[in-house]
Amino acid sequence: MNDKERFADMIRKSKRIVAFTGAGISTESGIPDFRSAGGLFDRLSGRHFTGEETLSIGFLETYPQLFFRNYAEYFNFSQARPNAGHRFFARLEQAGKEVAVVTQNIDNLHQSAGSRAVIELHGNGTRWRTFETAEATETTQISIDAQGIQRDPQGRMVRPDVVLDGEMLDEEAMERAAAAIGAADMLVVIGTSLAVYPAANFVHYFKGPYAILLNRTPVPQSLNFQLTVQTDAGAFLADVWKEFFEK
Ligand code: NAD
Repeated sequence: MNDKERFADMIRKSKRIVAFTGAGISTESGIPDFRSAGGLFDRLSGRHFTGEETLSIGFLETYPQLFFRNYAEYFNFSQARPNAGHRFFARLEQAGKEVAVVTQNIDNLHQSAGSRAVIELHGNGTRWRTFETAEATETTQISIDAQGIQRDPQGRMVRPDVVLDGEMLDEEAMERAAAAIGAADMLVVIGTSLAVYPAANFVHYFKGPYAILLNRTPVPQSLNFQLTVQTDAGAFLADVWKEFFEK
């Protein structure tokens, strides 16, 4: 069997499937990942800060103007559309599989594709909230003041509803992710360098028979994967869908 046949075969044999995704699943939607050459870390790093430092809570608190300027330039997801990789898991769900998506992404594209059970480990960059009360604010109501600071209609400074470096992950999201992965019989790890913790540790909750790694570049394999496919996720999953599941 070739990789596509093996992948399709494992899907057929599985009832509960979890997709564990990182920035790589969204590059084919035009959103750069972090660590690839020319990725966000390269673009965000400057003379005084590394790319990582600019995405920390300390940086937002110390240099809010710079943070918001970067955010507006590099984390604007409004034009991005889901690709075949996102759609694959939404379609599997529509086809009757029990599918959960555990994502490190903040771009909302799994939801846009139609996936209903999406667990966001790092929040959602299309939502805004206040600093103190964590009150959500509609994106359409956010304005930018003369200093380049994002504010809600009450004039309060707001921030994207994401987990920045130096912040804790949401407890409930972590519990849901662990439960979904622990109960799955197939885990598909896609487009992640598995370098960001604690998110990368979640794959270790998996106890099922079929673990698959689908990534463009080699990743240190901390889990025993039954199948490793080194290619572009969207194109690969589009083919798998067409060849094996299209009616
Ligand atoms: P990463 O940049 O560390 O790794 C991405 C991996 O995906 C790389 O190994 C790369 O080779 C691979 N990849 C790139 N394009 C691919 C494709 N088309 N098909 C298959 N593989 C592909 O990203 P990460 O591991 O997700 O890092 C974690 C952090 O990045 C998260 O905290 C997340 O919040 C943040 N992030 C999110 C977005 C987004 O929401 N789209 C974008 C950039 C960064």
